[in-house]
Amino acid sequence: MAEVAKRQIEDIEYVSLFWGNSNVPAIELATRLAQLAPPGLGQVMFTSGGSDSVETAIRLARLYHFVQGRPQKQKVLARERAYHGVFGLSGSATGFDAFHEGFGLLDPGIVRVAAPYCYRCPNAGTSQCCAVDQTAKVIETEGADTIAAIIVEPVMGAGGSIVPSADYLPRLARLCRDNQILLISDEVVTGFGRTGRWFGVDHWGVVPDMMACAKGLTSGYAPLGAVIMKDEIGRAFRETKDHQLHHGVTYSGHPVCCALALKNLEIIEQEKLIERARDLGKRLLEQFEEFREFEIVGDVRGLGLIFGIELVADRFTKEPLPIADQEITDRFLELGLIARLSRGLIILSPPFVLTDEEAEEIVRILRRVLAEVQQRVKGQAFERGSETGSKSSKSTRN
Ligand code: PLP
Repeated sequence: MAEVAKRQIEDIEYVSLFWGNSNVPAIELATRLAQLAPPGLGQVMFTSGGSDSVETAIRLARLYHFVQGRPQKQKVLARERAYHGVFGLSGSATGFDAFHEGFGLLDPGIVRVAAPYCYRCPNAGTSQCCAVDQTAKVIETEGADTIAAIIVEPVMGAGGSIVPSADYLPRLARLCRDNQILLISDEVVTGFGRTGRWFGVDHWGVVPDMMACAKGLTSGYAPLGAVIMKDEIGRAFRETKDHQLHHGVTYSGHPVCCALALKNLEIIEQEKLIERARDLGKRLLEQFEEFREFEIVGDVRGLGLIFGIELVADRFTKEPLPIADQEITDRFLELGLIARLSRGLIILSPPFVLTDEEAEEIVRILRRVLAEVQQRVKGQAFERGSETGSKSSKSTRN
């Protein structure tokens, strides 16, 4: 990768993609992405990262309807607990209040819909998943003729490592098709192998209208994103009156980033890293499933190398753990594991090149911390129990 960057900088370090200009790595990368993407997605616009790609996809979805003579189709459906980034449109599409509070007005065109997994829903994760039905109702209420697109992460990342039920995405895709609503798959996390397939949607045989990509495109060696879209969408822009698409950023198709992305994709293929993500992911998930023996483990889920292990005080009521996320994160770090905790959910996304020994170590550290946390929760439960029996012990402890 270092040699590729050096060679590209020595050859040509930057060319803008505006006004009909281009550069060889950008053209080659666009061609490669069109080959990897689901059938019919053959047009690519490059960006500088994930938020950028989501921003671009939403702007282009609106513009597509506009140039097709449907200017009233502007709303964008985005799901609860979605994470799509932090810019104007992507930040508004993100479904966490913490990312909105204090940042001013949100885009008024974003309409919130249900995610395919909901802690309050008795059908969560089953084939009766009601999220599509709820989305259909929202479309009816808002009016399909006002909706440009829906944006979804095929496997929800930050929202809780949520793998949808088998029928969720196919049904959603049908709903979109029937209502002339573009389906945008946010593949920023799931793209380029993390789930054990090239793209998250590939697991369900769903062909979206656009895919917003970043992260795995360069495996972090350089900042680069891409929106891969259906040919007919790209064609619609080319056929507009003035033939100019007024969207793009200075570093769209940056040649050094594109050259690195090409090499990255080549390495992923040559070293069979997607197969590795699939197989290692399956093995790890099986081992994580065994953690259900701990009473504090409420759920274990994942696909490829995305995992979620839910910690709760009570498995049935889902009462949250009485221990701060940060405390557990710190304990993991102390033992050498970088794991993220979000509202009691351990989120893990290990690298594709994780060795078998490292994978075993992850399991060992997780088991150790889960045992410690369970011990503590049980200790607290015991102390709470003793409080009701003895008032004096309560006052001494306080
Ligand atoms: N979309 C998803 C699903 C993400 O997980 C992220 C970042 O984690 C983004 C978009 C935003 O990407 P970036 O941080 O590169 O702007």
